[in-house]
Amino acid sequence: MGRLFVIAGPSGAGKGSIVQALAEEDPRLWVATSVTTRPPRPGDADGVTYFFVDDATFDAMAQKGALLEWATVYGYKYGTPREKVEAKLAESRDVILEIDVQGAMQVKKRMPQAVTIFIEPPSIDELRRRLGRRGTDDDVTIEKRLGIAKEEISKKDRFDFVVMNDNLEAAIAEVRAIIDQARRNQSV
Ligand code: 5GP
Repeated sequence: MGRLFVIAGPSGAGKGSIVQALAEEDPRLWVATSVTTRPPRPGDADGVTYFFVDDATFDAMAQKGALLEWATVYGYKYGTPREKVEAKLAESRDVILEIDVQGAMQVKKRMPQAVTIFIEPPSIDELRRRLGRRGTDDDVTIEKRLGIAKEEISKKDRFDFVVMNDNLEAAIAEVRAIIDQARRNQSV
């Protein structure tokens, strides 16, 4: 069996950059693609960044147990398709989920052997700067995201590991070390 790693943390904390870097350098890692009811943004590609579905399709998937976890984030539903994740784990691939805190807690409850990692931004001010620089959100949306970020940060102690991302390269190295350690433990 492969190992399941769950990476969560506020939007703008750098989860995406960390996961991308790890996946590029490590062919044993497989990053799950989520389904969402959020409309695609410029740069999104269906089946690559997400599978974009309507509400009815999402609800049907949730109802028939096709989602390992799901949550409503910023007004849209996001979920992890279960089957592919289980298939990859069975093929001994290590799987990464990049999801929100609610979803991470659901996965941990269902699969206690999952390794959960919270990516923490250095400060709310720095997060505000990063979200502003990203340019995808207006000021109202940024403030809303910061409110949710504060709430997510208050739950970081529920995670197996907390990685502070004040330096991207260092944060990537830290997550890589967590993954390496989990692999070593498994082979004992
Ligand atoms: P965005 O729409 O900006 O790509 O993502 C918004 C938030 O939804 C991010 O915090 C992201 O981690 C979270 N998210 C993405 N996919 C999933 C998923 O499958 N399940 C859950 N619970 N959250 C997800």
